[in-house]
Amino acid sequence: MIGKRNPTGVVLFGPPGSGKGTQAKLLTERLRLPHVSTGDMLREHIALGDALGLEVREVIKAGNLVPDPLVIRLVEDRLDRPDCEAGVLLDGFPRTIDQARMLLGMAEGRGLRLLVIHLKVDYDVITARLTGRRVCPQCGTLYNIRLKPPIVPGRCNIEGARLIIREDDKESVIRQRLVAYDAQTMPVLEFFAAHVRFFEVDGSDRKPEDLSNEIVNWIQSAADDAEFDSASGEGL
Ligand code: ADP
Repeated sequence: MIGKRNPTGVVLFGPPGSGKGTQAKLLTERLRLPHVSTGDMLREHIALGDALGLEVREVIKAGNLVPDPLVIRLVEDRLDRPDCEAGVLLDGFPRTIDQARMLLGMAEGRGLRLLVIHLKVDYDVITARLTGRRVCPQCGTLYNIRLKPPIVPGRCNIEGARLIIREDDKESVIRQRLVAYDAQTMPVLEFFAAHVRFFEVDGSDRKPEDLSNEIVNWIQSAADDAEFDSASGEGL
């Protein structure tokens, strides 16, 4: 079991539109881990209009990655909060080799075991998902006008709020986000494969709940193995 005696950092890894946000919502409830999304944190700063928000707004709008030192500082500060003691669910981080190196170091320093889930999804599926994506500005629930429409068109099922389109969900920007993923984020996979426990699932054509069950099963057994390893290592 994941917990203070077996702190675990679960990393959701995959291209934009692979379903990281949807899985993160399901997993954070089931695993009782805080959901740390660098994309959400950056968008909060943009919404506040603070110095950091102003610095990153245009970069995100263009579909490019925010500079490493900035994102790394955000994550470090977040992981220092007490709710991350038993573990954390990372979504959208790390996205570069330098971020991955830093995470490995931080995990080691904090006794956090890393488990990485790679969500593989075809790029044509991604484009269909992202061009139709709508989000509730109040509760963050995700919809898709074709694949998962709200009950009342344009309104959140839970809040009733008017749904919005993320600024970086325009087709030309989606393309640039995929270019950035291929160039800067894909190489992180090889790095992870060499350093941490790794699970790959195809998320192209699966119900989110089924995918979540498969991921939870893997996480639980990997976390239990880890507990067993460290318990049997005691006293050696
Ligand atoms: P998606 O995975 O769908 O692209 P995110 O919400 O994770 O969405 O990220 C949105 C944008 O925020 C990215 O395109 C990038 O500009 C910025 N961003 C988020 N996380 C990182 C990160 N770890 N490193 C650099 N930039 C990031």
